[in-house]
Amino acid sequence: MKAETIAIGSELLLGQIANTNAQIISKALQDIGIDVYFHTCVGDNRDRIIEVFSAAIKRSDLIILTGGLGPTIDDLTKETISSYLKIPLEVDQHSLERIKKYFETHRIIMTKNNYKQALMPKNAVSIPNKRGTAPGVLLKYDSKIIVMLPGPPFEMEPMLMDTVIPYLSKLSSEVIHSRVLKFYGLGESKLEEEIEDLLANQTNPTIAPLAKMGEVTLRITAKADSVKKAQDLIEPLEKEILSRIGEYVYGYDNENIEEIVARFLSNNNLTLATAESCTGGLISHKLTNVPGVSKNFERGIISYSNRSKTELLGVKHNTLKKYGAVSEQTALEMAQGLRKLYQCDIGLSITGIAGPGGGTDKKPVGLVYIGYSDSKSDIVKKHIFRGIRKEIKERAANAALHLVFNILKTYR
Ligand code: ATP
Repeated sequence: MKAETIAIGSELLLGQIANTNAQIISKALQDIGIDVYFHTCVGDNRDRIIEVFSAAIKRSDLIILTGGLGPTIDDLTKETISSYLKIPLEVDQHSLERIKKYFETHRIIMTKNNYKQALMPKNAVSIPNKRGTAPGVLLKYDSKIIVMLPGPPFEMEPMLMDTVIPYLSKLSSEVIHSRVLKFYGLGESKLEEEIEDLLANQTNPTIAPLAKMGEVTLRITAKADSVKKAQDLIEPLEKEILSRIGEYVYGYDNENIEEIVARFLSNNNLTLATAESCTGGLISHKLTNVPGVSKNFERGIISYSNRSKTELLGVKHNTLKKYGAVSEQTALEMAQGLRKLYQCDIGLSITGIAGPGGGTDKKPVGLVYIGYSDSKSDIVKKHIFRGIRKEIKERAANAALHLVFNILKTYR
């Protein structure tokens, strides 16, 4: 089955928002073995919507449109597609009841133009929208399937996942199943070199590398007629890859480094506190994105100034004077200070130069020291990260989390 997406909305063309719906839809279709051939964006304009849709209906079996299902005059999707296909719009009583109920529940007065949202092309199936008023549309036209979903991703995604994907998966005889291996500490080119022969000979499963902020992921994807058969195809390849570069693997599938660190802390009953200078709280932010981390994340201190390093962490004046704020000695005292002053098991610190200014020959932009202190060891790692300020901060925060992971994994 060939599929394509059409995102409708002038704000997409003006660069005010990115077409993230296309990404969400493509990923979901890929997971059930449906190939996506085109993503198109078009403004809220009847003629141009028709221009795009008429091309799509000729070349694709499945077309998923998003946006323009709202109540206002510039929301044209249903009206334009129905009139192009010469299918009349009818009031769908079920949808009308749902919309009325939505307004009642949220204590909002329903205006006349909201009735337009209950209109459905004749013989189409309405897709319930739990998070908003606009129902979606699932329409069969000759051998084609046309789906219309609202623009806001938080409305669109549950409708896609709860109704559209289950419906489409029943039509497709193949499943696509993936296994993601996540690596750290091994550059993309080195990784590719290690598995060059496997990359050159891939068919089913396929292997797709992706590099991001010091991490590299390998997605191994197999097509088969059941998930079990796809897993059986993936397994020997995964084993072969792990036998070559398994020491660099830190995680699998959707789990990210902060979740893994939080899990390790919880499993080992350990508490961690952070003191961040150049990352300005990024490690704390990442860790607090993990639900349930409060038992193990004691506190996060942003100690940007020298004064705060002394006052909040007990870094010695002399250390700052002699070695500077960005130094191995300061990073270590920051990490040790956390443990001493705040009674936690692990102190994690970070101090560095994120740039663009402030670098010298001896201490260039990107120089970052990460300090780690627990009852068994005191460690400082020196890094020189490349990139702009934001990238350096991101890479530094990731490196700090990976340092904790590498130490904690030896505790198991
Ligand atoms: P509503 O009922 O909220 O009016 P709608 O179906 O008419 O929904 P639009 O008005 O086209 O949707 O878009 C509403 C908002 O949804 C946009 O302002 C934007 O924030 C978001 N949105 C729309 N299309 C996309 C897209 N393709 N990717 C990401 N976000 C989108």
